[in-house]
Formats: sequence, structure tokens, C-alpha cells
Amino acid sequence: MPENYEELIKRCYQCGTCTGACPSAKITGTFNPRKIIAYMLLGSKNKMISDDVIWLCVACHACAERCPELVYPSEVLFQLKNAATAEGNFPAAVKDEALQVYNTGTTVEPSAPIERRRIKLGLPEFPVVNVDEIQKIMEVTGIDKKLEFNGKTLKEQKNEEEEKQ
Ligand code: SF4
Ligand code: SF4
Repeated sequence: MPENYEELIKRCYQCGTCTGACPSAKITGTFNPRKIIAYMLLGSKNKMISDDVIWLCVACHACAERCPELVYPSEVLFQLKNAATAEGNFPAAVKDEALQVYNTGTTVEPSAPIERRRIKLGLPEFPVVNVDEIQKIMEVTGIDKKLEFNGKTLKEQKNEEEEKQ
């Protein structure tokens, strides 16, 4: 893991290679990692962590692989997203995904079509996930509390959903 983003971004000379490699920039036309680094260099961290645009990064690391100055834009984006989450600024979809991980231990639950594709590709069966361990990790690390929604932790949201069923 590279050092703090404040040190990383000092190496950036705005060549734009990161944006050229970024699939999200290509598809959205609005997301631009070079510009985000530029805003950071201008001291606009607060603007960035309150802007939903940072969540358009899909963490593919194509930018980090190509940056000639080893700025690791993807890691800068991770640090921005962590800072935004600490402030309670995150899209509802992030909360939904966290709840999915809390409930099932996976971001995508195994299904018959996925299993068929795994067999076709010669992959082993989907491993059994220890959901209790995942929930414990999320509670101990405080993720459960950070992603609370309407004042409820993930655990409380899960209990509420179970009661409704
Ligand atoms: S590729 Fe690296 S040096 Fe070039 S603009 Fe992006 S972060 Fe800056
Ligand atoms: S990690 Fe994020 S910023 Fe970097 S190329 Fe992928 S989507 Fe773009």
C-alpha cells in the first residue's frame, strides 16, 4: 500500500495517462482521475469527498499500472472514498452492497448460472462462506456502524429485515 495520498499526488505532472486508461472515464465521460488529482493538488479535498463523482471509480487499477510517476490514482481514490465514508458521504448503493456482504458474505451470491459457468471454466465449486466471521469482522472494524442508515447499524437493519419476513 503506497503512503498517504498527499505525498503521492506531488509526483503528478498531469500527463493524463490515467484518464486515457480509465474505463470509467471512457464510459461516463464525466469521471476523470487526472482532474481529481489536479483538484487535490489545489487543496480541494473537501470538495472531492462531498462529490459523488469519486464513486464512479471501479477500482480496476488500470491507472495505477500505467502512471509513469507511480502516483497510484486508484489508491488516492480509495483514500478519498474512505474519507468520504467517514463523513457519512456515500451513495445508497454502497450501503446496499455492504448489507449484502453482511448478510451473505459475498457481493454476488452464487446462483445456478454462475455455478454452471464455473464448471464450464474448470473452476472449483463456490466456497462456503462463513457469514458469522464476516459479520464479526464488520462489527469489530466498525464498518457496521459507519454504514448505518437512518441511524441503524447493518446488524440492526438485518434484524429488521428478518422480522419483516
Ligand atoms: S498518469 Fe500519473 S502523472 Fe499522469 S496525470 Fe495521471 S496521476 Fe498524474
Ligand atoms: S482504478 Fe478507478 S480511476 Fe483508476 S482506471 Fe480504474 S476506474 Fe479509473
